Amino acid sequence: PVKEIRSEGDRKIVTLHDGTELSAYAVLVTVGGEPTKLGVVGETEYHGRGVSYCAVCDGAFFKGADLAVIGGGDSAFQEGLFLTRFANKLYVVHRRNEFRAQAILQDRLLKMEKVEPITPAEVKEIGGNGDVKWIDIERDGKIERVNVEGVFVFIGFKPVGRYLFREHIDHDKNGYLITDQYMRTSIPGVYAAGDTRAQLAKQITTAVGDATTAVLHAERYIEELKDLERAFPSEPKEVVAQTASKAELVVFAPDDIVLKAGDPADRFYMVIKGEAEATQRGPDGSQVVINRFGPGDYFGEIGLLNDAPRKATVRAKTSLELMALDRETFAKLLRSSQATEDEVRRVAAERTRAATPR
Ligand SMILES: Cc1cc2nc3c(=O)[nH]c(=O)nc-3n(C[C@H](O)[C@H](O)[C@H](O)COP(=O)(O)OP(=O)(O)OC[C@H]3O[C@@H](n4cnc5c(N)ncnc54)[C@H](O)[C@@H]3O)c2cc1C
Repeated sequence: PVKEIRSEGDRKIVTLHDGTELSAYAVLVTVGGEPTKLGVVGETEYHGRGVSYCAVCDGAFFKGADLAVIGGGDSAFQEGLFLTRFANKLYVVHRRNEFRAQAILQDRLLKMEKVEPITPAEVKEIGGNGDVKWIDIERDGKIERVNVEGVFVFIGFKPVGRYLFREHIDHDKNGYLITDQYMRTSIPGVYAAGDTRAQLAKQITTAVGDATTAVLHAERYIEELKDLERAFPSEPKEVVAQTASKAELVVFAPDDIVLKAGDPADRFYMVIKGEAEATQRGPDGSQVVINRFGPGDYFGEIGLLNDAPRKATVRAKTSLELMALDRETFAKLLRSSQATEDEVRRVAAERTRAATPR
């Protein structure tokens, strides 16, 4: 299993428990989570011998048995409903009087004759003779013994993704990793999908769908990272990774206008696929081509450097895919390397000179 993931330049280093180190440009974290434990005597000892955290996995081993479900939320009730297929009797043990589960689940489960709620009650111990035979619960300050052969615990879920990182990774108050719509986390090149990610549904369908989105975006990220490294070889690798993670992919059809002379300058562009053409109005009013851009070329720097409106119009010549950086990301890229800034300023000056009518 994976022990730790850390950033090193533009790479993620994945360290396994046996010490093996793997290096990758991007990592997708899909480690799910683990059920919250009761933390009572007998729970660990009887895990797999009557204590379970998965009714679907283990319910069928308890045909005709008396069982207890611990918890009062949707999971406890959903799993409890499943267990009623096998149980002779099902106790629902919850530490509060009120259940948190949806009303419809409560209605369905609690109206069954074989179901008996025990509230407000806390499990204090799980015991037996090699297999679970009873639980001790505390209700109204008194300990009561309830005879059961299976204890199904659904009192919460702890996502584990964030524990793989020593550096900060954004997570919500319950520990779920926060991502954007492309499954990007706050660490450049690190994606998250499935149960370890903050989301509404913990379902197989969403886990698989989110992972698909993440992989498609990660491919794009790696491509952009390499394009940026080729264009700005002096840039520190970790800044390139941060820049690529902030880049936005924009797509244009042939003849679409990417930016227009006179418009405010807000973004910097690099061509990923296709061709574009920059034009300026000539003395006779016609559009004169002043530059052509192909894969790896960039444009839009002049307006940003001078904080001035666009001097030229750029149009897609073919289907065009561009990587766009906002003003702040572009400024950070320049600030991080004097050589990058000098080179971009040199290109801008040369283009300005070439475009100025003589
Ligand atoms: C009892 C039960 C019933 C369910 N029924 C349904 C259902 O009917 N329909 C439905 O859509 N969903 C159901 N779900 C939810 C569904 O199983 C999850 O939403 C889905 O499996 C999430 O996928 P995941 O990849 O995020 O996490 P998981 O499926 O939990 O996979 C995470 C994997 O990562 C591994 N892992 C953890 N830490 C590490 C590490 N450090 N290094 C390497 N590997 C690690 C784990 O061993 C595990 O194999 C059910 C869940 C439970 C518990």
